[in-house]
Amino acid sequence: MNKKKRIPTYYDYSEHGIKSSKIDSISFEIAKKIIKSGHQAYVVGGAIRDILLNRTPKDFDLVTDLKPEEIKKLFHNSYIIGRRFKLVHIRSKGSITEVSTFRSQSASIPQIIKGIFNLRSNKYFYQNIYGTIDDDVMRRDITINALYYDPVNRKLIDFTGGFSDLKAKRMNVVGIPAKKFAEDPMRILRMIRFSAKLDFKINDEMAQEIDAMKDHILTLPGSRILEEFNKFFINGHAYKSYRKLVKHDCMKYIISYDWHNISENDQAMMCEALKDTDDRYSRQQYLAVIFLLSLFMWPKYSDEMHKIGKPSSMKFQTLRTNHRKVCELIFREQKETMAIPIKLAIRLEKIWILQYQMESTNKNKKLQRIKENGHFKMAFDLMKIRATGRPKLKEICNYWQEHAEANAKVIAARRELKKNRRPPKKSNMSKNKQALTY
Ligand code: ATP
Ligand code: MG
Repeated sequence: MNKKKRIPTYYDYSEHGIKSSKIDSISFEIAKKIIKSGHQAYVVGGAIRDILLNRTPKDFDLVTDLKPEEIKKLFHNSYIIGRRFKLVHIRSKGSITEVSTFRSQSASIPQIIKGIFNLRSNKYFYQNIYGTIDDDVMRRDITINALYYDPVNRKLIDFTGGFSDLKAKRMNVVGIPAKKFAEDPMRILRMIRFSAKLDFKINDEMAQEIDAMKDHILTLPGSRILEEFNKFFINGHAYKSYRKLVKHDCMKYIISYDWHNISENDQAMMCEALKDTDDRYSRQQYLAVIFLLSLFMWPKYSDEMHKIGKPSSMKFQTLRTNHRKVCELIFREQKETMAIPIKLAIRLEKIWILQYQMESTNKNKKLQRIKENGHFKMAFDLMKIRATGRPKLKEICNYWQEHAEANAKVIAARRELKKNRRPPKKSNMSKNKQALTY
């Protein structure tokens, strides 16, 4: 079949202004070696988008017309990863650079037949199909993520109008939105995430496309949504992400809950906590995913508990029985959206039940046991946030404050002891990546 060739626009330095110092030196050297061998190599995706927006890229991805095996031959310090989508990792000076081959989205019938049938999404997943740069551009999601930069000749290549979209802070899909969203509904969440992260507008027309296609998100594997959850909420734009997800009625695909009916108090708590999360990110402090999950799932847990009775006045046995019932229900419903690993689910349950134990009228009797509970610190943090706009709960928080401080000292001392015992671990986190804990 004859393919219509896509004509790109080329921008030179006077127009794009990308300084060579902004390109990671290892990626530059790799691209140079490939180009010198008579092939094409470009920095693509997030790195170019971020440099053009004066932001620090998280990582540099390279694409080339060389096949994985050919890249491997050119770089002795490289290895091929992935089975369905082969990529090459090049190791140099303690870091790894990912190089991929131009791919195409169009598949022939035999390729589709060979495709892997995915039970959850009822979709065929195509095999590795290599292509040219103008095929590669069409499989990308958003125009601002589809810019190619040749660092040796300092040329920016734009097939989709991404450069002008970037300047106008516009979000546009590469290709036909409905088709692209149906192919991979994760693109809907990515669209919302980038608009939150970069402060770009999703116009009314695009909002309608999102609205029409958003239920397809339910076909995604829960593990992919968990990955995206981390990108939404532990990258310095948690608050904006939450607001945008609620605005586009997509928060429910992450945490199963009727987010439009959230109480004013819970809404205030959520916003407070997410702003605090972003502050912690900017101060490079640890961000615990378990804390965010305990917070996001709290409104549903607490609503369900209150449907049964007043949890803080229940006898412990009754509290525990009701707590189990409610947890079973909410984790069952949660399975339809984002996957919560069992280890995290167990910890969440402990953090939640502690809320009511800490609120209980006979807390003095249980003081010692609660204080020594391994989840006390996390539970106290959640309680502090829950106390936003609730004076009674604030008083209870004050009661636990000194115990929490003493507990924090014990934990810090234990950590110090462990650190001194163990030999230091080599960190494989890039300089820009935030420390993340579960
Ligand atoms: P980040 O700063 O979050 O890493 P990024 O744009 O680099 O942003 P990646 O997830 O690292 O995002 O993906 C790299 C590139 O691959 C994207 O810029 C985009 O061109 C393409 N891409 C990633 N996911 C998809 C997808 N689901 N559909 C189409 N293209 C995608
Ligand atoms: Mg990236």
